[in-house]
Amino acid sequence: MSLFTLTGKTALITGSARGIGLAMAEGLAAAGAHVIVNSRQRVSVDAVVEQLKAKGLQVSSAAFDVAQEDQVLSAFDGFDKAGVAIDILINNAGIQHRQPMVELSLKDWHRVMDTNITAAFIVGREAAKRMIARGKGGKIINIGSLTSQAARPTIAPYTVAKGGIKMLSRAMAAEWAQFNIQANSIGPGYIMTDMNKPLMENAQFDAWVKSSNPAQRWGKPDELVGTAIYLASEASNYVNGQIIYVDGGWLSVL
Ligand code: NDP
Repeated sequence: MSLFTLTGKTALITGSARGIGLAMAEGLAAAGAHVIVNSRQRVSVDAVVEQLKAKGLQVSSAAFDVAQEDQVLSAFDGFDKAGVAIDILINNAGIQHRQPMVELSLKDWHRVMDTNITAAFIVGREAAKRMIARGKGGKIINIGSLTSQAARPTIAPYTVAKGGIKMLSRAMAAEWAQFNIQANSIGPGYIMTDMNKPLMENAQFDAWVKSSNPAQRWGKPDELVGTAIYLASEASNYVNGQIIYVDGGWLSVL
């Protein structure tokens, strides 16, 4: 399926040492891309690179904190010096913080906003700047959430940031479509990852997920891969500023 091939492309996937990011890293590499694996922890990034290389995939590592502008700038400086050009960026790194809003500190508000929305702007800006200069277009995929569309109690900054992700993709499309850059969002439903461990272990929450979702189950990280490949490939060259929910149909029902 040449329409979906990523051969010859380089993809940076932030927060790809585990969970959804790791699944997308393996999936994009299997579709032919050279994938740069990222997280804040050098040790876990290197371990993932070894694991994926053992499967015959083309991967390399870049450990940096996406929420620290100086670290992002220095990582891109390193890519420039090494002759690495990013064709596909997936802004996936994210954190959660659960607390009622009336008890929430400004520090925790900023911590979540910095990682879940501001970082997508910073990394997106650095990637797009270079894509525009190269003149070959590019693909940006920002990972949103069900909370890009609907709120849940106790996760206010996460909800605001993920709503922002949907609009950041549109802002990117508005400015960068003319340079053949497509920027879209994926909104995953509740997926079985470390981030949701406390929720999966909570019998009441687990039952709520299974009873509210028409699919009657949690999603698996590798169920995001097909949509990521589609949005990273030429198959989506005239799709821009959209959000695709991969949620088992959850947002379609009352
Ligand atoms: P995980 O907690 O399993 O993984 C998050 C990854 O991001 C880790 O590799 C983590 O590594 C990395 N990370 C966190 N902060 C930073 C940072 N500042 N800089 C670089 N890397 C960072 O999360 P998921 O796989 O569950 O989530 C991935 C994305 O999908 C997030 O944006 C999340 O909001 C979103 N999402 C998840 C859903 C779910 O149900 N799981 C549902 C909807 C959206 P380290 O901590 O070592 O840096």
